[in-house]
Amino acid sequence: MGTQVINPATEALLLDLEDYSAEDVDRIISRARAVYDSGVWSAQSVAARQTVLHQIADMVDAHVAELAQLETSNVGLPISQTSGMHVSRAALNFRFFSDYIGQAEGQLYEQNPDYLTMVTRHSVGVAALIAPWNAPLALGAMKIAAAIAFGNSAVIKPSEQAPLTLTRFVELLGKTDLPKDVVQIVNGRGSTTGAALVSHPGVDRISFTGGTETGRVIMGAAAQTLTPVTMELGGKSANIIFADCDFDRALDGALASIYAGNGQQCLAGSRILVEESIAPRFIDAFVARAANIKVGDPMLKDTQMGPVASKAQYVRIQDYLQSALSDGAKHLTGGARPDGLDQGYYLSPVAIQTDDPGARICQEEVFGPFATLLTFKSEEEAYQIANNTTFGLVSYVWSQDLGRIMRAQNALASGVVWVNTPMTRELRAPFGGIKESGIGAEGGHACAAFYAQQKTVTIPLTDVPLPKLGA
Ligand code: NDP
Repeated sequence: MGTQVINPATEALLLDLEDYSAEDVDRIISRARAVYDSGVWSAQSVAARQTVLHQIADMVDAHVAELAQLETSNVGLPISQTSGMHVSRAALNFRFFSDYIGQAEGQLYEQNPDYLTMVTRHSVGVAALIAPWNAPLALGAMKIAAAIAFGNSAVIKPSEQAPLTLTRFVELLGKTDLPKDVVQIVNGRGSTTGAALVSHPGVDRISFTGGTETGRVIMGAAAQTLTPVTMELGGKSANIIFADCDFDRALDGALASIYAGNGQQCLAGSRILVEESIAPRFIDAFVARAANIKVGDPMLKDTQMGPVASKAQYVRIQDYLQSALSDGAKHLTGGARPDGLDQGYYLSPVAIQTDDPGARICQEEVFGPFATLLTFKSEEEAYQIANNTTFGLVSYVWSQDLGRIMRAQNALASGVVWVNTPMTRELRAPFGGIKESGIGAEGGHACAAFYAQQKTVTIPLTDVPLPKLGA
């Protein structure tokens, strides 16, 4: 029996997904290798690759409605977010890497008058790309765009729960001039299909986005074949609200960073740290707004939060709420099934308050619409609480004091710091975590370093003396 892919809004069966076997994966990697070796894509000029990458972006844009509906029906993200952001982000990724490869600079070293040394870049071969279920198309497309822009072949494995959009996207590539088999898909469970993919000796790079524990397993497999990996893993990001912030913007930002994307975002600002002097006012306003978020059918345009993506997530969130309350946290709002939504994995946005930064709810990623509020008295205490986690993906800071902003960005242990903004992906800059949030990053230079192999070429400019062994 395969995996039952469920619409989280209706609990209806969308698809019974058969796992690709290890033999299927092997066949697909062989095809990826053959197309790579043929040079039909890997040996194309940059200009030819750019043309195709732009065609792919245009193709995605021409299918926004279809792809957004598929994504929403599969993962429950509001249609306003899938059509307004996720699908267009997928297209943007291809445009971005097309432009990037047209502008990339080389390295030349001529300090030594006798030698010229240059660093050339070459594609690496076959990239295995593994995407999670929370934003399959946007996250998967980032990996595919980066891998193929540098001339590689790619094999993508979506989450078994959320295969619909990436499967359709790969099918739609047939409408572009991308040569057949440059991008292929394998579907199935992580423990079978995924494991076969990441342990295959024919894979030259593994790019993984998912949970920290899965990341450890995949790195273990990659260690056997010494395959380079990037790991975009979980987070428990701190959102620090200083008393001198723009109150209304900080409030909007705090709500968006934990409840947008149904709260199922690696970069969610899930620990909200509020300076004590404004805490009562801020927390009251936050709770009133959270309780007012429009939860409902994700296909409706005005829905702000849809169902969580699966029954397992639904149960997990309830368990975390119960466990936090038994650990002494104060329940502020949420967690119940909203009236009139009797079917589907719906719950109202959760907020709790605790004064124990070491509590389980402050340490473990819930990966759902679940805000944990804490208060702090001093800047130092804020940074100490923020950094008191095994994760290190994103930190948020809200303040209007430039000196404090600069101290904060220096003190915070995370790969990304967003100041006075809920989330802003700058594709040119690296996005990646430190500590247990990941290894490596995605972004312009970061992807060039990962998906293209550097080669140092040294050429003497004079007849430099050589040793005369045996002369
Ligand atoms: P998982 O770690 O459960 O799964 C991620 C992917 O890995 C899925 O495609 C899964 O397949 C696959 N997989 C599982 N086991 C293996 C294996 N042994 N070998 C190869 N592949 C495997 O994560 P989720 O899908 O639950 O995603 C949520 C997590 O992703 C959260 O922790 C979140 O923070 C993180 N995330 C990180 C981001 C970042 O940029 N840092 C962005 C978005 C999410 P299957 O589902 O079929 O089992």
